[in-house]
Amino acid sequence: MVQENDSAKPLELIDSHCHLDFPEFDENREALINECTVKGVKKFIVPGVTADTWPRLKKVANDYSSIYPAYGLHPYFLAEHKLEHVEALKVFIQNNPSIAIGEIGLDYYLKNLDRNFQQKLLLAQLALANELNLPVILHVRKAHDDVLSFLKQFSLVGGTVHAFNGSFQQAEQYLKLGFKLGFGGAMTFERARHLRQLVSDLPLEAIVLETDAPDMRPANYSQEINTPLTVLTVFRQICELRSESPQQIANQMTANTCAIFSLPN
Ligand SMILES: [Zn+2]
Repeated sequence: MVQENDSAKPLELIDSHCHLDFPEFDENREALINECTVKGVKKFIVPGVTADTWPRLKKVANDYSSIYPAYGLHPYFLAEHKLEHVEALKVFIQNNPSIAIGEIGLDYYLKNLDRNFQQKLLLAQLALANELNLPVILHVRKAHDDVLSFLKQFSLVGGTVHAFNGSFQQAEQYLKLGFKLGFGGAMTFERARHLRQLVSDLPLEAIVLETDAPDMRPANYSQEINTPLTVLTVFRQICELRSESPQQIANQMTANTCAIFSLPN
């Protein structure tokens, strides 16, 4: 149960972006998920990263009803992708429940990733999301304008922009296209002035909580790997930046995530 709650109803939070299928969690996945459940983190959206590892994610999602999988080709792992994997993705999704297509996007921050191939994969996966009427989970670094122009070529149902760190104007464009913006551990650092400003200025309906565990450890965190438990740290930080009550914030974040991914709330 989340501490900030004064009323009788315990707060319920969702980690809208974490990689609980990664081998980093093999040792203690069950204990971790149990601890999350006890502390009010009740659902996990877990996006896929490569064709080779979709079966691993499928298994974890079968083992835990609190894990909601999405499948996709993550730009970070570009060297492992082939264009044919998009066709394989379609077949995989037709045979296995997937709440979204993800994690997909453009990463211009890493210079060794071929932009042309990234764009081809993204466009093909956006077309698939359009065809299957699924939301998308986006990974975007230094590429918001290109991603926004690609999104405008389709009429997608929306999705999330994970670890959003664009401008307020770019945020507004994503919102117009039906997207929610994910904020995680990066915002807990005092130097993250821009992110904190976004979180306090954006409408509550625009924001979803995330951790990106095992990556993106929050500030003052002593463990070696990040876990979905730190969604509580992110939540507390958002409560500090906003004027609404913790209950209201928790309810809205959870409602936002459920709405985007058509989850039971
Ligand atoms: Zn991720």
